[in-house]
Amino acid sequence: MPITRRHLLRTGSLVLGAGPHLADIGPATAAPRPDAAPEMAADAFLRLKPGSIVPRGWLAGQLRLQLDGLCGRLTERSHFLDFATSGWVHPGNGAWEELPYWLRGYVPLAVATRDGTALDRARRWIDAVLTTQQDDGFFGPRVLRTALNGGPDFWPYLPLLQALRTFEEFTGDTRVVPFLVRFLRYMNSQGKGAFDTGWVSQRWGDGMDIALWLYRRTPEPFLLDLVDKMHLWGADWTGALPGAHNVSIAQGFREPAQYAQRSGSAGHTRASYRTYTELLAAHGQFSGGGFAGDENIRPGLGDPRQGFETCGVVEFMASHELLTRITGDPLWADRCEELAFNLLPASLDPDGRAVHYVTSANSVDLDNTRKTQGQFQNSFAMQSFQPGIDQYRCCPHNYGMGWPYFAEELWLGTPDGGLAAAMYAACRVTAQVAGGTDVTVTEDTDYPFGETVDLVVSVPRPVAFPLLLRIPGWCAAPGLQVNGRSVGARGGPAFVRVERTWTDGDRVTLRLPQRTAVRSWPGNRDSVSVSHGPLTYSLLIGERYVLHAGDAAFPEYEVHATTPWNYGLVPNGELEVRRTGGPLAANPFTQSAAPVSITAEARRVPEWIADDEHVVAPLQQSPARSAGAVERVTLIPMGAARLRVTSFPTASPDGTPWRPESAYRRIRNKHSGKVLAVDGMSTQNSAHVVQFDNSGTGDHAWQVLDQGGGWSLIRNGHSGKVLGVDGMSTQNSAHVVQFEDNGTDDHLWQFV
Ligand SMILES: [Zn+2]
Repeated sequence: MPITRRHLLRTGSLVLGAGPHLADIGPATAAPRPDAAPEMAADAFLRLKPGSIVPRGWLAGQLRLQLDGLCGRLTERSHFLDFATSGWVHPGNGAWEELPYWLRGYVPLAVATRDGTALDRARRWIDAVLTTQQDDGFFGPRVLRTALNGGPDFWPYLPLLQALRTFEEFTGDTRVVPFLVRFLRYMNSQGKGAFDTGWVSQRWGDGMDIALWLYRRTPEPFLLDLVDKMHLWGADWTGALPGAHNVSIAQGFREPAQYAQRSGSAGHTRASYRTYTELLAAHGQFSGGGFAGDENIRPGLGDPRQGFETCGVVEFMASHELLTRITGDPLWADRCEELAFNLLPASLDPDGRAVHYVTSANSVDLDNTRKTQGQFQNSFAMQSFQPGIDQYRCCPHNYGMGWPYFAEELWLGTPDGGLAAAMYAACRVTAQVAGGTDVTVTEDTDYPFGETVDLVVSVPRPVAFPLLLRIPGWCAAPGLQVNGRSVGARGGPAFVRVERTWTDGDRVTLRLPQRTAVRSWPGNRDSVSVSHGPLTYSLLIGERYVLHAGDAAFPEYEVHATTPWNYGLVPNGELEVRRTGGPLAANPFTQSAAPVSITAEARRVPEWIADDEHVVAPLQQSPARSAGAVERVTLIPMGAARLRVTSFPTASPDGTPWRPESAYRRIRNKHSGKVLAVDGMSTQNSAHVVQFDNSGTGDHAWQVLDQGGGWSLIRNGHSGKVLGVDGMSTQNSAHVVQFEDNGTDDHLWQFV
């Protein structure tokens, strides 16, 4: 394919990624990286070899919980992971994304925990997968050769390739790179139909990650052709979103910035920034770092009750980690930490034995009942904690990469032979600096619960290298000392660069003072959320866990509230931070072990209720009217709260009256027995309203909203749009449609 190749300077990406926050990285010192390849822009930061970082403290606790919990024991429970029948081992059988998802998390989990048994288990699968390769490079289930448009379906391969990369980097297994070269050559021999449709078309960023990594290892020219095909034939992420699926968006939006490694185009990098900003502005108007994607995003339905799929959480984190490396912009690390410290632990049960499908900023009941009124875009039961092998399917297999990948990205290499602390958690990192000297940095911190990071440098002999430390965007006044002497450090987001000849035992102390902040969300009716440093805080709600199925190893829990939750915060009320002191618990992300809390002044808003399917009603305009007494309520870190209100209305006696949400109803036709529905469950303007079997989907739910004067809007639960007449026609037999509520009279109805 005729594609113009641009020859790039090796320092190119420092220019591409050069946002306002890169100044502290300094000029791009062009020490060539050992694996730099021709025609490729160097990344701002380099991944360290898996195993370089040994997590400690609470992060080690999370990884241990995961290894002993659902991810570590998933082969005992998931029929998708049956070695005796999996198509990834026995190519005559079928298989899809589940084993690739699981291995992508399980391999780095085994590495991070140094668990030999887990590594042996991973090796058994990988050995088997490697033996299935055919002469033309194809491997795995034969059915996948013709599963997409008569050609290969590459989507399920992409996470598996990432698992193989981690395995190769940790073990040095010499079979893997030639195996990948053969497979990617096969991939490159396929026509456009293998690239431009299906899940894979929106997820080529994952493939590009592997192809570019492989090119740096072994610069086969065809790999660049393949990268070009992924970009040009795959979905276009440079403009309007090419799809609405939350997981595909979470991994797809970064693709242009990845392709900038090849194209050298600052426009490509900017496209990923722009998409993120527009996505969060439209669908992420609440704290925690996620967006409203309880399967697909829906325009206009961005209340904090909407959920973000667990797969979306971990994919978004992985994207932010990749973008931190490519661009060097500390904003992406901030965004990754926000998800890691808030939404990720909230998506897992406190014992690490279960997941749920979606996690919401406001969530007051986690039951195992489908929702039929369009509260979520998908209507199957998504709330309870369970293994969910078939009910949730992707999430229990995919969530495992969240913590291990986070642990791998705490420290990164710099192109000029230094080390960068990209994100913070207690750990020990060992890496080569300054062209070959082994250095170990021991990091002690209670971060994000504490605000001090202590580093001790161990070196065999004095060695000069730059040490970069990220200052988060929320931290305006950091304090940095090297061996007790203050070093200048500006507020975040930034990387502070310390250049010196390091000697054994040198100590670095970084203070990241945390302040309590109240953030207002104009996009969600002026609601507010409370944060302190990188943690966002949620109302402490009494939680009653009810085992509804399963056993001790694989429990299935509903969680119900035992205390009131419908509080609004007093505007400008007092907020007091409390710390328990003492060492952190192994898992601080629980109600009982959370080491920090905030007390806040609040009033009950009695009209704010859950609907008859136990889903919290959407927020209304703040300040909300409340005559309730001022009470002091407790807020705990979002990640420690499985039931939570994170986006609060404000409440005052002279606020706006809160109108109880009117019920959703189904409208049945006597002759056909069918109910009023939206054709194809469309969320688009002008979609036809039709009759359909009463099958319980949200597009069958309609809400009558009194507009005064005897007229009402009739709003659809699934789309949030209202009943109108096509083209505002006044003719007989004109179609009735749904349309956004834009105030026209054809949207007003009355019962006569
Ligand atoms: Zn999922």
